[in-house]
This record gives sequence, C-alpha cells and structure tokens, in this order.
Amino acid sequence: MPALRTDAVVLHVFDYLETSRILRLATREAGVQSVLARGARRPKSRYGTALDLFASGTAEIYMKVGRELHTLASFDVTRSRGELAADLERFTAASAIAELGMRFGTSEGHAELYDALVETFEAIGGSSASASIDAALAGAWRIVSELGFAPALDTCASCHAPIAGDATASFSHPAGGVLCRRCTSLAASSRVLPSDARGALRAWVAGARAPVADDLARRAHQRLLREFLSQHLADGRPLRAYEVWERNGWAGTVEAGT
Ligand SMILES: [Zn+2]
Repeated sequence: MPALRTDAVVLHVFDYLETSRILRLATREAGVQSVLARGARRPKSRYGTALDLFASGTAEIYMKVGRELHTLASFDVTRSRGELAADLERFTAASAIAELGMRFGTSEGHAELYDALVETFEAIGGSSASASIDAALAGAWRIVSELGFAPALDTCASCHAPIAGDATASFSHPAGGVLCRRCTSLAASSRVLPSDARGALRAWVAGARAPVADDLARRAHQRLLREFLSQHLADGRPLRAYEVWERNGWAGTVEAGT
C-alpha cells in the first residue's frame, strides 16, 4: 500500500500508550485526519523532536480505508513554530484557529483551507500580543469563507434587500448575517454591528487585513466570531479554545492596567 505524501500541519497532539502520540493533522490532500505516530516520544524518534503542536511540513500517511486512525510513516518538519507555544497570547490565538480547523474540517482535500490555516499560524507567530488577536480574527473569518459559510454583509441575510455599505446594521446569527430594518424588527434576536466592524468582516472574509480600533472592538469581534461559529456547529459542544482565548486576552489586559 503506497503512503499518501502531503503537506500537513499539526492541530492537536496527545500522548498514547508508553511511547506514542496521536496527532490531528490538517492536510492539503486529505483534509483533517487523525494519525498514530508510533514511538514518537522515544528519544531517537524517526519523526524528530520538532514534531509538535502547530508544526508543519510534509507527512507520509498510510491511509486505511474505513478507519478513523491512520498511521504516520514520517513527518519532515519544515516549520516548528515554537514562537506560538512560547507566548500565551499567541498560543491561545493559535489554539482557537486549530479548534476551528478540527471542528469544521472534513476528510476532503481542500488546498485553500489548508493554506488559510498555515498562513494564519504564520501571521499569529509574527505578531505581538494584541496584534496576534487581530491576525487570528482575520484568519478565522478567511477560514470561515473557505469553509463556505461566510456571513451575508451587504444584503439582508433574510430577504436579500441591499444594505447601505456605511450604515450600522444588525447582525443575526440564526439568519447568517446582517438584516435590513424590516427583517430586524421581525427577528427574535440580533446584535448591533457598527459600520467599521462590518468593514473589517468584509475585508477578512476576502482574505485581506483590516484595522481594529481598540480593545473594546477587539473584544466585540472575538465574541461575534465565537457566537457565529457556535451557531454553525451541529453537535452543540462548546468551543473551548475560543472561551480560553477570550478570557486569557482580557485577564492579561486587566493585570497590565492595575
Ligand atoms: Zn430583510
């Protein structure tokens, strides 16, 4: 049986038995997959010491048809991304991105989704603490767009009426985007989306950068993203990494301010 050779990035790692590890990988060719790395915790592992969370490179995987867990034959690490683990802000931001990949990714190959994940880890790793939040917000909305459920931002998500580009709009998670005035009055719940926040979302889903005004706006964006993702999860399990990401960032800010 030939091994699948593919670009891959590590989204999750846990120890298995005495010497092995199980990894969740996002791959370019085969989507999100679980693999067993036999002997990965031995001192002279064939995977090398750099195979850790957020590392990327070329993986060789023996895929077993109809199985959930495949075998990792080798992993040639080209970027180990220790900078993400070294800083709490970056680590929690990158963990939120990894959770997004794991919860929404499928076993279908999706090159653009893979690229968006890897480029977001790069952007977070190259950012200072508060900028890492902005990099993760931008990357998360780009990933949402690649996953195919970007929110409606310029037409009403319910009746498709156009909405003025610079207006404050209301945003409905169940509807999947902004609502016109009439549909807002009929909706059970919605939240206010200022025009600059809508502009940022518009840029992010298109894969572009956008400035975030201040910490208050940053916090509102984190919450909007978590609520939006929760709405799209069928299993109802909480997005733990998002909760940690929101708490950590603001706990740090409060400490720094006192
Ligand atoms: Zn409407």
